[in-house]
Amino acid sequence: MSAPDSGTIARECVEGYLYTARPFELWIFRRPPARGGIWVPISGKVETTDADLESALLRELREETGLERPGAITPLDWQVPFDAPNGEGTWRLTAFAVEVDPTWTPGLSAEHDLAERVSPSVASVRLHYTDNREAVQRLVERLQPRLGLDAREAPHVYARVGPELFEALRQRRPKRIALQVPAGLVRNAHELAEQIRAATGAPVFLAGRPCFGACDVPMPDEVPGAEVAVVLGHAPIPNMVLPPPTYFVEMRYSGGDPSRLAEMVKTARLPARLGIVASVQHLDLVAPLERELVRAGFSPKVGAGDRRLAYPAQALGCNYTGAEQVAAEVDAFLFVGTGRFHPIGLALATDRPVYSLDPLQESLEPPIDRAAIVRRRQLLVAGARDAKRWGILVSTFAGQNRTATALAMQLRARRHGREAEILTFSRIDPRDLEGRAFDAYVNTACPRIAIDDSDLYPRPMLTPPEFLMALGELPLEPYPFDTYH
Ligand code: SF4
Repeated sequence: MSAPDSGTIARECVEGYLYTARPFELWIFRRPPARGGIWVPISGKVETTDADLESALLRELREETGLERPGAITPLDWQVPFDAPNGEGTWRLTAFAVEVDPTWTPGLSAEHDLAERVSPSVASVRLHYTDNREAVQRLVERLQPRLGLDAREAPHVYARVGPELFEALRQRRPKRIALQVPAGLVRNAHELAEQIRAATGAPVFLAGRPCFGACDVPMPDEVPGAEVAVVLGHAPIPNMVLPPPTYFVEMRYSGGDPSRLAEMVKTARLPARLGIVASVQHLDLVAPLERELVRAGFSPKVGAGDRRLAYPAQALGCNYTGAEQVAAEVDAFLFVGTGRFHPIGLALATDRPVYSLDPLQESLEPPIDRAAIVRRRQLLVAGARDAKRWGILVSTFAGQNRTATALAMQLRARRHGREAEILTFSRIDPRDLEGRAFDAYVNTACPRIAIDDSDLYPRPMLTPPEFLMALGELPLEPYPFDTYH
């Protein structure tokens, strides 16, 4: 990044990235919905009464968080010039890392409505501005030698395939780029590869295997010689160990009229206490939609989720913990996105009616029939009760591997006098299970394989909680969703 000549800077500003050393985590702050609802570090303008940048930082920390006694303050040598509001020329931000005690919690000023302490990976994903995310990367690099921290490179995140991504890839100068796309984009994959090739000058190899989630990004041996992987259509999974460096392009959708969509929800008379969940492509619509729903008399609720989710309100097919956190306060959920995949998972995870709002088609679908899906699963469980030989499936994909669960299931099976063998795969494919001498399977890989694709398999395939139901260790009700944390 090139800083302009200091003579052209009309005003200095400071940013503070608050971290705890053990555990190594960062405090991030959410602006209220009226100011975009975005996640940011502490920041502010340097006033004429401030002696220097550090004094300005200390004042901002006091005003915005009540922090009186910070620990070590480390300049990150990170300066970002930007166009000031109202055409007041170029301003410049200077970033600092500020250590805080792990027992400290921030007070909230009117600047923010929420503060969370998260891992650097989650901060790298949630922080709204690219400069903020890059500053976190710089902070990890700076503090790692001093604190002996895990030096893993945080994932790089972009909203769309475009100039920001191209510039970052150009700066990296990879000898070869691996490009992986989801199944819905395979027809466009060649065109996208060509765009990246033309913009970066680097050869691009297409990973032949489409990605179902951020959990199955291409491994180094799948695209030999690739120094960088670009993964389209998914947000990173913050608690997953990635083969670095991985660039996620979330393919955010910028359309959708929040006031018209809120009006549709009102006309359809959905319950006022409404939880909101969205696919990653439509997350930018959540904050404006929340505002319009409040205007229309609703009390929308959004949960932050656990460490497998990068964003509040985000849906992941194996993890709806954000929704689960607010389920007791709502009478129904509104899923913003397309298709039935997430509404099915959300209904199974929360046992609430799930309405689907498709912002592309401007359509609102009634709740899916959760009871029918649960009945089908219970019948499958009943049919597998007498199975003697069980195959326990494990995926080797970094974000789907649950070997410990598989071993625990094997132990349980043996305790109940059943035979159980562990089988490992990268992707689970029904053809690989043909002709095997098992009566039934337990799937510890992506939970949705058992739930959504079980008709494709030659024998009953259960999730781990369903397997415990089949052994009689869990009751048939309430139905437990197999969630991955
Ligand atoms: S485990 Fe399945 S549902 Fe979860 S992220 Fe991976 S593909 Fe999606």
